[in-house]
Amino acid sequence: MKIKIKRLPDEVISKIAAGEVVTNPASVVKELVENSVDARASKIEIQIRNGGKSYIKVSDNGIGMSTEELTLAVQRYTTSKIETLEDIYKITSFGFRGEALASIAEVSRLLITSSNGEVSGKLEVVGGKVVRISEAFRERGTTVEVYDLFFNVPARRKFLSSEKVEARMVTEMVERFLVALPSVEFLYKIEDEVVYFAKPSRLSDRFSTVFPEVREFREFEEETSFGKVRGVISSPQYCRKNRTGQMFFVNGRFVLDSLLNSALERGYGESISHGGKPYAVIFLEISPDRVDVNIHPQKLQVKFSDAQGVYNEIIRVVRDQVRKFPGFTMFVERP
Ligand code: ADP
Ligand code: MG
Repeated sequence: MKIKIKRLPDEVISKIAAGEVVTNPASVVKELVENSVDARASKIEIQIRNGGKSYIKVSDNGIGMSTEELTLAVQRYTTSKIETLEDIYKITSFGFRGEALASIAEVSRLLITSSNGEVSGKLEVVGGKVVRISEAFRERGTTVEVYDLFFNVPARRKFLSSEKVEARMVTEMVERFLVALPSVEFLYKIEDEVVYFAKPSRLSDRFSTVFPEVREFREFEEETSFGKVRGVISSPQYCRKNRTGQMFFVNGRFVLDSLLNSALERGYGESISHGGKPYAVIFLEISPDRVDVNIHPQKLQVKFSDAQGVYNEIIRVVRDQVRKFPGFTMFVERP
Protein backbone atom coordinates (compact mmCIF):
# COMPACT_ATOMS: atom_id res chain seq x y z
CA MET A 1 0.00 0.00 0.00
CA LYS A 2 1.17 3.49 -0.81
CA ILE A 3 1.93 5.81 2.08
CA LYS A 4 -0.23 8.89 1.86
CA ILE A 5 0.91 10.81 4.93
CA LYS A 6 2.67 14.01 3.94
CA ARG A 7 4.12 16.84 5.94
CA LEU A 8 2.21 20.08 5.42
CA PRO A 9 4.15 22.96 3.86
CA ASP A 10 5.28 25.56 6.44
CA GLU A 11 3.06 28.10 4.74
CA VAL A 12 -0.03 25.98 5.49
CA ILE A 13 1.09 25.20 9.04
CA SER A 14 1.43 28.87 9.93
CA LYS A 15 -1.96 29.72 8.38
CA ILE A 16 -3.63 26.98 10.43
CA ALA A 17 -1.89 28.16 13.59
CA ALA A 18 -2.91 31.76 12.88
CA GLY A 19 -6.52 30.61 12.62
CA GLU A 20 -6.37 29.37 16.20
CA VAL A 21 -5.73 32.88 17.51
CA VAL A 22 -7.28 35.13 14.89
CA THR A 23 -10.86 34.26 14.03
CA ASN A 24 -12.43 37.68 13.40
CA PRO A 25 -11.83 41.39 14.01
CA ALA A 26 -12.93 41.09 17.66
CA SER A 27 -10.23 38.50 18.32
CA VAL A 28 -7.63 40.87 16.83
CA VAL A 29 -8.84 43.70 19.06
CA LYS A 30 -8.66 41.38 22.06
CA GLU A 31 -5.04 40.43 21.42
CA LEU A 32 -3.92 43.98 20.64
CA VAL A 33 -5.59 45.59 23.64
CA GLU A 34 -4.18 42.86 25.90
CA ASN A 35 -0.72 43.68 24.55
CA SER A 36 -1.28 47.35 25.32
CA VAL A 37 -2.33 46.52 28.86
CA ASP A 38 0.67 44.21 29.26
CA ALA A 39 2.82 47.15 28.10
CA ARG A 40 1.38 49.10 31.06
CA ALA A 41 -0.52 51.60 28.93
CA SER A 42 -2.74 54.10 30.73
CA LYS A 43 -4.41 55.26 27.51
CA ILE A 44 -5.66 53.00 24.74
CA GLU A 45 -7.33 54.04 21.50
CA ILE A 46 -9.24 51.59 19.32
CA GLN A 47 -10.70 52.22 15.89
CA ILE A 48 -12.29 49.98 13.27
CA ARG A 49 -13.51 50.48 9.72
CA ASN A 50 -15.96 48.21 7.87
CA GLY A 51 -16.55 46.17 11.00
CA GLY A 52 -12.79 45.73 11.31
CA LYS A 53 -12.61 43.87 8.02
CA SER A 54 -10.66 46.59 6.22
CA TYR A 55 -9.01 48.35 9.16
CA ILE A 56 -8.31 47.89 12.88
CA LYS A 57 -6.15 50.23 14.91
CA VAL A 58 -5.02 49.89 18.52
CA SER A 59 -2.77 52.61 19.83
CA ASP A 60 -1.25 52.93 23.31
CA ASN A 61 1.10 54.95 25.49
CA GLY A 62 2.80 51.88 26.94
CA ILE A 63 6.48 50.99 27.25
CA GLY A 64 6.90 50.55 23.48
CA MET A 65 9.55 48.61 21.62
CA SER A 66 12.89 49.26 20.02
CA THR A 67 13.22 48.60 16.27
CA GLU A 68 15.02 45.34 17.00
CA GLU A 69 12.24 44.22 19.34
CA LEU A 70 9.67 45.12 16.68
CA THR A 71 11.09 42.63 14.22
CA LEU A 72 11.18 39.96 16.93
CA ALA A 73 7.63 40.70 18.10
CA VAL A 74 6.03 39.60 14.81
CA GLN A 75 7.81 36.24 14.79
CA ARG A 76 6.12 33.14 16.17
CA TYR A 77 6.78 32.14 19.79
CA THR A 78 8.62 35.32 20.66
CA THR A 79 7.56 36.88 23.94
CA SER A 80 8.99 39.16 26.60
CA LYS A 81 6.58 37.78 29.18
CA ILE A 82 7.78 34.33 30.23
CA GLU A 83 11.02 32.41 30.04
CA THR A 84 10.26 29.01 31.51
CA LEU A 85 7.24 26.70 31.66
CA GLU A 86 6.87 27.33 35.41
CA ASP A 87 6.38 31.04 34.70
CA ILE A 88 2.95 30.27 33.20
CA TYR A 89 1.63 29.32 36.64
CA LYS A 90 2.43 32.64 38.23
CA ILE A 91 1.75 34.80 35.21
CA THR A 92 0.21 38.22 35.74
CA SER A 93 0.26 39.39 32.09
CA PHE A 94 -2.47 38.55 29.59
CA GLY A 95 -0.04 37.23 27.00
CA PHE A 96 2.69 34.61 27.16
CA ARG A 97 2.32 32.46 24.05
CA GLY A 98 4.05 34.88 21.72
CA GLU A 99 1.61 33.99 18.97
CA ALA A 100 -0.74 36.93 18.57
CA LEU A 101 1.28 39.40 16.51
CA ALA A 102 2.74 36.61 14.39
CA SER A 103 -0.73 35.24 13.71
CA ILE A 104 -2.20 38.63 12.84
CA ALA A 105 0.80 39.39 10.63
CA GLU A 106 0.29 36.10 8.79
CA VAL A 107 -3.24 36.92 7.66
CA SER A 108 -3.22 40.70 7.07
CA ARG A 109 -1.21 43.72 6.02
CA LEU A 110 0.23 44.87 9.32
CA LEU A 111 1.81 48.17 10.22
CA ILE A 112 3.40 48.69 13.64
CA THR A 113 4.93 51.94 14.81
CA SER A 114 6.54 51.94 18.20
CA SER A 115 8.79 53.97 20.41
CA ASN A 116 10.35 53.03 23.72
CA GLY A 117 11.06 56.68 24.45
CA GLU A 118 14.52 56.55 22.91
CA VAL A 119 14.22 54.99 19.49
CA SER A 120 11.20 54.79 17.20
CA GLY A 121 10.60 52.45 14.31
CA LYS A 122 8.02 51.34 11.84
CA LEU A 123 7.52 47.84 10.53
CA GLU A 124 5.37 46.68 7.63
CA VAL A 125 4.44 43.04 7.24
CA VAL A 126 2.32 41.61 4.42
CA GLY A 127 0.99 38.07 4.79
CA GLY A 128 3.71 37.21 7.29
CA LYS A 129 6.60 38.69 5.31
CA VAL A 130 8.41 41.78 6.50
CA VAL A 131 8.42 44.23 3.59
CA ARG A 132 9.83 47.36 5.19
CA ILE A 133 11.53 48.61 8.33
CA SER A 134 11.93 52.33 8.63
CA GLU A 135 12.47 55.14 11.09
CA ALA A 136 9.53 56.83 12.71
CA PHE A 137 8.93 59.81 14.93
CA ARG A 138 6.50 59.52 17.77
CA GLU A 139 6.20 59.64 21.51
CA ARG A 140 6.57 56.53 23.67
CA GLY A 141 4.01 53.85 22.89
CA THR A 142 2.83 51.56 20.14
CA THR A 143 0.33 51.77 17.31
CA VAL A 144 -0.72 48.60 15.54
CA GLU A 145 -2.75 48.90 12.34
CA VAL A 146 -4.27 45.85 10.68
CA TYR A 147 -5.47 46.22 7.10
CA ASP A 148 -7.55 43.75 5.09
CA LEU A 149 -7.84 40.88 7.55
CA PHE A 150 -7.71 37.48 5.79
CA PHE A 151 -6.94 39.09 2.41
CA ASN A 152 -4.78 36.03 1.71
CA VAL A 153 -7.16 33.44 3.19
CA PRO A 154 -10.30 33.93 1.05
CA ALA A 155 -12.05 30.93 2.59
CA ARG A 156 -11.71 32.55 6.03
CA ARG A 157 -12.69 36.01 4.82
CA LYS A 158 -15.88 34.55 3.37
CA PHE A 159 -16.83 33.24 6.81
CA LEU A 160 -16.77 36.66 8.42
CA SER A 161 -20.21 38.02 9.27
CA SER A 162 -21.69 41.28 8.02
CA GLU A 163 -19.86 44.50 8.92
CA LYS A 164 -22.61 45.31 11.38
CA VAL A 165 -22.29 42.00 13.21
CA GLU A 166 -18.48 42.08 13.25
CA ALA A 167 -18.59 45.65 14.60
CA ARG A 168 -20.98 44.60 17.34
CA MET A 169 -18.63 41.80 18.40
CA VAL A 170 -15.75 44.30 18.54
CA THR A 171 -17.87 46.66 20.62
CA GLU A 172 -18.70 43.84 23.06
CA MET A 173 -15.00 43.07 23.32
CA VAL A 174 -14.21 46.74 24.01
CA GLU A 175 -16.95 46.85 26.65
CA ARG A 176 -15.31 43.97 28.50
CA PHE A 177 -12.08 45.93 28.69
CA LEU A 178 -13.93 49.07 29.76
CA VAL A 179 -15.34 47.38 32.86
CA ALA A 180 -12.31 45.22 33.57
CA LEU A 181 -9.85 48.12 33.48
CA PRO A 182 -11.54 51.20 34.95
CA SER A 183 -8.19 52.92 35.58
CA VAL A 184 -7.27 52.85 31.89
CA GLU A 185 -8.52 55.62 29.61
CA PHE A 186 -10.24 54.29 26.49
CA LEU A 187 -11.24 55.93 23.24
CA TYR A 188 -13.22 53.72 20.86
CA LYS A 189 -14.29 54.76 17.39
CA ILE A 190 -16.27 53.03 14.68
CA GLU A 191 -15.30 54.71 11.42
CA ASP A 192 -14.73 58.30 12.66
CA GLU A 193 -17.49 58.29 15.23
CA VAL A 194 -16.66 58.13 18.93
CA VAL A 195 -18.56 55.26 20.56
CA TYR A 196 -16.83 55.46 23.95
CA PHE A 197 -14.53 57.98 25.48
CA ALA A 198 -13.94 56.86 29.06
CA LYS A 199 -11.59 58.70 31.41
CA PRO A 200 -10.00 56.70 34.26
CA SER A 201 -12.72 56.01 36.79
CA ARG A 202 -14.36 53.43 39.06
CA LEU A 203 -16.04 50.13 38.21
CA SER A 204 -19.53 51.45 38.99
CA ASP A 205 -19.01 54.37 36.56
CA ARG A 206 -17.81 52.02 33.84
CA PHE A 207 -20.82 49.77 34.48
CA SER A 208 -23.07 52.80 33.88
CA THR A 209 -21.11 53.76 30.77
CA VAL A 210 -21.62 50.34 29.23
CA PHE A 211 -25.15 49.70 30.56
CA PRO A 212 -26.71 53.18 30.84
CA GLU A 213 -30.22 51.71 30.89
CA VAL A 214 -29.59 50.16 34.33
CA ARG A 215 -30.59 52.84 36.83
CA GLU A 216 -30.36 50.77 40.00
CA PHE A 217 -27.47 48.47 40.83
CA ARG A 218 -25.23 47.38 43.68
CA GLU A 219 -21.48 47.19 43.90
CA PHE A 220 -20.14 44.57 46.30
CA GLU A 221 -17.08 42.71 47.45
CA GLU A 222 -17.18 39.48 49.47
CA GLU A 223 -14.78 36.88 50.72
CA THR A 224 -15.76 33.30 49.91
CA SER A 225 -14.29 29.88 50.55
CA PHE A 226 -12.32 30.06 47.28
CA GLY A 227 -11.33 33.73 47.26
CA LYS A 228 -12.73 37.15 46.64
CA VAL A 229 -15.87 37.82 44.59
CA ARG A 230 -16.59 41.42 43.66
CA GLY A 231 -18.56 43.27 41.06
CA VAL A 232 -21.77 45.04 40.19
CA ILE A 233 -25.23 43.52 39.76
CA SER A 234 -28.45 45.13 38.57
CA SER A 235 -31.64 45.42 40.53
CA PRO A 236 -33.91 42.50 39.48
CA GLN A 237 -36.22 44.84 37.57
CA TYR A 238 -33.45 45.38 34.99
CA CYS A 239 -33.12 42.38 32.73
CA ARG A 240 -32.35 41.58 29.13
CA LYS A 241 -33.78 38.72 27.14
CA ASN A 242 -30.30 37.32 26.62
CA ARG A 243 -27.09 37.17 28.63
CA THR A 244 -25.27 40.00 26.85
CA GLY A 245 -25.49 42.07 30.03
CA GLN A 246 -23.50 39.49 32.00
CA MET A 247 -19.72 39.35 32.17
CA PHE A 248 -17.47 37.18 34.30
CA PHE A 249 -13.75 37.58 34.86
CA VAL A 250 -11.48 35.07 36.55
CA ASN A 251 -8.26 36.62 37.82
CA GLY A 252 -8.77 39.52 35.45
CA ARG A 253 -9.47 37.42 32.35
CA PHE A 254 -12.87 37.46 30.69
CA VAL A 255 -14.34 33.95 30.66
CA LEU A 256 -17.35 32.26 29.11
CA ASP A 257 -18.90 29.63 31.34
CA SER A 258 -22.66 29.20 31.13
CA LEU A 259 -22.69 27.60 34.59
CA LEU A 260 -21.53 30.92 36.05
CA ASN A 261 -24.45 32.66 34.29
CA SER A 262 -26.83 30.02 35.66
CA ALA A 263 -25.42 30.46 39.16
CA LEU A 264 -25.99 34.22 38.90
CA GLU A 265 -29.60 33.73 37.78
CA ARG A 266 -30.24 31.20 40.52
CA GLY A 267 -28.97 33.76 42.99
CA TYR A 268 -31.73 36.12 41.83
CA GLY A 269 -34.25 33.33 42.41
CA GLU A 270 -37.89 34.36 42.12
CA SER A 271 -37.06 38.04 42.02
CA ILE A 272 -36.62 37.98 38.23
CA SER A 273 -39.45 37.12 35.89
CA HIS A 274 -39.17 33.81 34.06
CA GLY A 275 -36.41 33.94 31.45
CA GLY A 276 -35.20 37.38 32.48
CA LYS A 277 -31.43 37.84 32.41
CA PRO A 278 -30.16 40.36 34.97
CA TYR A 279 -27.05 42.48 34.39
CA ALA A 280 -23.83 41.63 36.17
CA VAL A 281 -20.12 42.25 35.99
CA ILE A 282 -18.42 39.82 38.33
CA PHE A 283 -14.75 39.33 39.12
CA LEU A 284 -13.56 36.13 40.79
CA GLU A 285 -10.15 36.06 42.38
CA ILE A 286 -9.04 32.49 42.78
CA SER A 287 -5.66 31.12 43.70
CA PRO A 288 -4.00 30.27 40.33
CA ASP A 289 -3.46 26.66 41.37
CA ARG A 290 -7.23 26.14 41.70
CA VAL A 291 -8.09 27.30 38.21
CA ASP A 292 -6.70 26.53 34.75
CA VAL A 293 -7.06 29.29 32.17
CA ASN A 294 -4.58 27.73 29.80
CA ILE A 295 -6.93 25.33 28.07
CA HIS A 296 -7.66 27.30 24.90
CA PRO A 297 -5.60 29.73 22.78
CA GLN A 298 -8.32 32.34 23.05
CA LYS A 299 -8.37 31.66 26.79
CA LEU A 300 -12.10 32.15 27.14
CA GLN A 301 -12.83 28.90 28.94
CA VAL A 302 -11.72 28.09 32.46
CA LYS A 303 -11.53 24.93 34.48
CA PHE A 304 -12.04 25.20 38.24
CA SER A 305 -10.67 22.41 40.40
CA ASP A 306 -13.82 22.70 42.55
CA ALA A 307 -16.43 23.96 40.09
CA GLN A 308 -19.43 23.07 42.25
CA GLY A 309 -17.97 24.95 45.20
CA VAL A 310 -17.44 28.05 43.05
CA TYR A 311 -20.99 27.98 41.65
CA ASN A 312 -22.53 27.50 45.10
CA GLU A 313 -20.62 30.48 46.44
CA ILE A 314 -21.75 32.66 43.50
CA ILE A 315 -25.38 31.72 44.17
CA ARG A 316 -24.98 32.60 47.85
CA VAL A 317 -23.18 35.91 47.29
CA VAL A 318 -25.65 37.05 44.62
CA ARG A 319 -28.63 36.04 46.75
CA ASP A 320 -27.29 38.06 49.69
CA GLN A 321 -26.83 41.10 47.46
CA VAL A 322 -30.20 40.84 45.70
CA ARG A 323 -31.93 40.83 49.11
CA LYS A 324 -30.52 44.27 49.76
CA PHE A 325 -32.44 45.87 46.90
CA PRO A 326 -35.40 47.58 48.55
CA GLY A 327 -38.76 46.04 47.73
CA PHE A 328 -37.51 42.74 46.40
CA THR A 329 -36.83 40.88 49.63
CA MET A 330 -40.14 39.02 49.68
CA PHE A 331 -39.65 37.52 46.23
CA VAL A 332 -36.24 36.07 46.93
CA GLU A 333 -36.28 32.38 47.75
CA ARG A 334 -35.06 31.50 51.26
CA PRO A 335 -32.09 29.16 51.49
P1 ADP B 1 2.64 37.69 23.89
O1 ADP B 1 1.70 38.79 24.25
O2 ADP B 1 2.08 36.34 24.18
O3 ADP B 1 4.01 37.88 24.46
P2 ADP B 1 2.40 38.74 21.20
O4 ADP B 1 2.62 38.15 19.87
O5 ADP B 1 1.07 39.29 21.51
O6 ADP B 1 2.83 37.68 22.29
O7 ADP B 1 3.47 39.90 21.39
C1 ADP B 1 4.87 39.57 21.26
C2 ADP B 1 5.74 40.56 22.03
O8 ADP B 1 5.68 41.85 21.40
C3 ADP B 1 5.29 40.82 23.46
O9 ADP B 1 5.82 39.84 24.35
C4 ADP B 1 5.83 42.21 23.72
O10 ADP B 1 7.19 42.14 24.12
C5 ADP B 1 5.78 42.88 22.35
N1 ADP B 1 4.59 43.75 22.21
C6 ADP B 1 3.44 43.46 21.57
N2 ADP B 1 2.56 44.46 21.61
C7 ADP B 1 3.15 45.46 22.32
C8 ADP B 1 2.75 46.78 22.74
N3 ADP B 1 1.55 47.28 22.44
N4 ADP B 1 3.65 47.51 23.45
C9 ADP B 1 4.88 47.02 23.76
N5 ADP B 1 5.30 45.79 23.40
C10 ADP B 1 4.45 45.00 22.70
MG1 MG C 1 -0.09 39.21 23.34
